[in-house]
Amino acid sequence: MKCAEKVPCPCCNHQDFKVIGSRERKLKDERGMARTFIIRRLRCQQCNKIHHELPDLMIPYKRYAADV
Ligand SMILES: [Zn+2]
Repeated sequence: MKCAEKVPCPCCNHQDFKVIGSRERKLKDERGMARTFIIRRLRCQQCNKIHHELPDLMIPYKRYAADV
């Protein structure tokens, strides 16, 4: 399984996060199939803000939306 790529913090551009938990998120794909994603909660070690990591599988949706 591929781990998420490192994404800099949107607030301060720092790249050091601490995983403080995770939660499941259920989504349906374009065929109506239910899929479960694990979204990790990360705390930026510099600005202490909490971010939610977007799993790889969810990124195509984002990209598609950004493309149009
Ligand atoms: Zn930050």
